[in-house]
Amino acid sequence: MSKQLVLFCDFDGTITEKDNIVSIMRRFAPPEWEELTRQILGQEISVREGVGKLFALLPSAQKQEIVDYIVSEAAIRPGFAQFVRFCEEKSLELLITSGGIDFFVEPILAPFQLKAPIYCNGSDFSGETITITWPHRCDEHCDNDCGMCKTSIIRRYDPERCFRVVIGDSITDLAGAKIADFVIARSFLAQKCEKLGLRYRPFETFYDVIDTLGTLIAEQEGITS
Ligand code: MG
Ligand code: ZN
Repeated sequence: MSKQLVLFCDFDGTITEKDNIVSIMRRFAPPEWEELTRQILGQEISVREGVGKLFALLPSAQKQEIVDYIVSEAAIRPGFAQFVRFCEEKSLELLITSGGIDFFVEPILAPFQLKAPIYCNGSDFSGETITITWPHRCDEHCDNDCGMCKTSIIRRYDPERCFRVVIGDSITDLAGAKIADFVIARSFLAQKCEKLGLRYRPFETFYDVIDTLGTLIAEQEGITS
């Protein structure tokens, strides 16, 4: 029996060309956001703590303005719609695993009418400023305080039965890449995969991703024959 291909696809900087949290902060946040971002990237504070503090800088009353801005601002990487269709046709299991927030991830993805589940952080606008909620926190095997813990989700898929592919671009995909069976990577994540000797292929568009998946499917079928 060949294994089921399961794809864990990042959102910011992968499906979208740019990081949407950075775009939102640049446009709406007071200057403190830059220092918080530096602390997150320097791993002085966890991603969960940092992202929580970033959104606490923004008034809840600005919700609609922020959503309108980011939906018009976010550019989707070429080939994404074709990639979604390819996954459906080939019966690949696709999951969107995003460290982004529901109030912008969902409207940006809405035009694609995904059947795939979307794992991301939640939001609460009932207070003066935006509160991020964390429905997918780290399991007992992860102590990174990720916020949305990608490795916790990947671990639910048995490697005996599943061939687990991480698609991503940045530091927040690295832990998942290390436990995956294969990585499709761009930018920082591609450099890291190269350096660490992980099994990976680089991509720039989702047409590249489709090509790589075609190869992986052929390999899986090869195993069975
Ligand atoms: Mg990313
Ligand atoms: Zn975690």
